[in-house]
Amino acid sequence: MSRADRVADVLDDRGLDLLLVTDLVNLRYLTGFTGSNGMAVVGRDLRRFVTDFRYVDQAAAQVPDFDRELGPQDFITALGDGWPAGELRLGFEDDHVSVRRHGRLRDVIPGRIELVAAGGVVESLRAVKDAGEVERIRAAAELADAVYGTVREQGLAGRTEREVALALENEMRQLGAEEPSFSSIVASAERGALPHAVPTDATIPRGTLVTLDIGARLDGYCSDCTRTWATGDLPDDLAGAYALVLRAQEAALDAVRPGPEGRHVDAVARRIIEEAGHGEHFGHGLGHGVGLEVHEAPRLARTGDAPLVAGNVVTVEPGVYLPGRGGVRIEDLVVVTEDGRDVLSGTTKDLLSVG
Ligand code: ZN
Ligand code: ZN
Repeated sequence: MSRADRVADVLDDRGLDLLLVTDLVNLRYLTGFTGSNGMAVVGRDLRRFVTDFRYVDQAAAQVPDFDRELGPQDFITALGDGWPAGELRLGFEDDHVSVRRHGRLRDVIPGRIELVAAGGVVESLRAVKDAGEVERIRAAAELADAVYGTVREQGLAGRTEREVALALENEMRQLGAEEPSFSSIVASAERGALPHAVPTDATIPRGTLVTLDIGARLDGYCSDCTRTWATGDLPDDLAGAYALVLRAQEAALDAVRPGPEGRHVDAVARRIIEEAGHGEHFGHGLGHGVGLEVHEAPRLARTGDAPLVAGNVVTVEPGVYLPGRGGVRIEDLVVVTEDGRDVLSGTTKDLLSVG
């Protein structure tokens, strides 16, 4: 069954006749189209794809299963006609469509067609990866592991955070990545206490922790992996934080399997960190889905109420952040399998001292 068929299958449950897909990531997932302008309409017997003149040939190659049309200069006006007869309920992606664009849609689309907010339809399919997608994510994770190998060889202490970030992103591209899947984090010493620190011109000192959070996009799919390494002997509080986060991370990894809701897995790590007296130092969710986007469904967080199912690909990334001192985060990428999990990140989690 094609992805578009699967979308058509769930429309009934959502009370929709048709779904308008305008988000480019969802469009890629659904149709294979990788261009920067296009939209699709999917219904039980409808597979409509519109793009502009730049992408006509590309769409012919990438989107063979849809009825393709060339949109006019004022792209959205293509939706003025071409609809099945009768009154219809047309879902639109309300979590991606701007208020302005919604107004334009309302103006252009015939009045007999009701526009219905219907976010998350394609995203919920995307949350369950097929084997081909898992292999792409695995390859992206292996690429990140190779980059970590190079960073280890090159060392950390005495270089600036920006130098390290630049070098690792360059290495990533040398190894075939399309781009980093997000801005790399290299955060040393007290900056490690900021979960989303931006690499600075500060020189990485000896005797502290450095958090590296990197991911590669390969063949459209993302990876995401955090390691925290030492630059020489550590003070007791930082060494203790590392041991605690590693214990919480491994316990939560063990809890990943089909069945539990995201919040249950989050709670496994959170309880361990809270019992050690560091609950207030773990202020973010445990993890998130990864696929065509680096943050997607499902969420492993206090608000994550979707039960995990085989084919979910998620991160498990607890952290402890000690203000003014430093921080630890350890993040693996893991695929939920029928009987448990398969960890895609291969870089060791033993506390490494990288000089
Ligand atoms: Zn990350
Ligand atoms: Zn992450």
